Amino acid sequence: MAYSQSLNELVAALSKLPGIGRKSAQRIAYHLVTSDEEYVKNLSDAILNAKEKTHYCSVCNDMTEDEICPICASDKRDRSLICVVAEPKDVVAIEKTKEYKGLYHVLGGLISPMDGIGPNDISISKLIGRLNGEVKEVILATSLSVEGETTAMYIARMIAPLGVATSRIAKGIPAGSELEYADEATIANALEGRRKI
Ligand code: ZN
Repeated sequence: MAYSQSLNELVAALSKLPGIGRKSAQRIAYHLVTSDEEYVKNLSDAILNAKEKTHYCSVCNDMTEDEICPICASDKRDRSLICVVAEPKDVVAIEKTKEYKGLYHVLGGLISPMDGIGPNDISISKLIGRLNGEVKEVILATSLSVEGETTAMYIARMIAPLGVATSRIAKGIPAGSELEYADEATIANALEGRRKI
């Protein structure tokens, strides 16, 4: 490899980004070092700025710049509904449908024994802690993959004794695929067609 050391380091760092292989990392690195300086500086400032300001909502674990995210803080949301998702990007996908008016809970992953991720490694106990008298239904909107199903079933079992209804999003989103890749109508239908479990 005829790259300089600094360029090699940049390629190595970019290769660690999700979905970026070595070839893409090389292409991006080359693009960056041949771009004008102001663009590169703005990009690096944007990364640092977002990193500095973004943290987890203290209620739902979604990404926010505030202590409590705008959805949790809003008085226009239906507080009797909590939609449980794996990642912050799933909230974005569901919000895009403009159909859902309840609250969210972001687990921060899915139960996956193969990867050593158990129920205590994701935000389940915090979810249970939110089930005060106000919440009437918990919608389990984890993906229809093995991990998503395992997580949904585990949470449903934990919630059952508390007298809060649980429901599961309908099939329609292809099994294993993630919410972020489904179109808005598909997500809206999956939520609309949810079934009590
Ligand atoms: Zn929140």
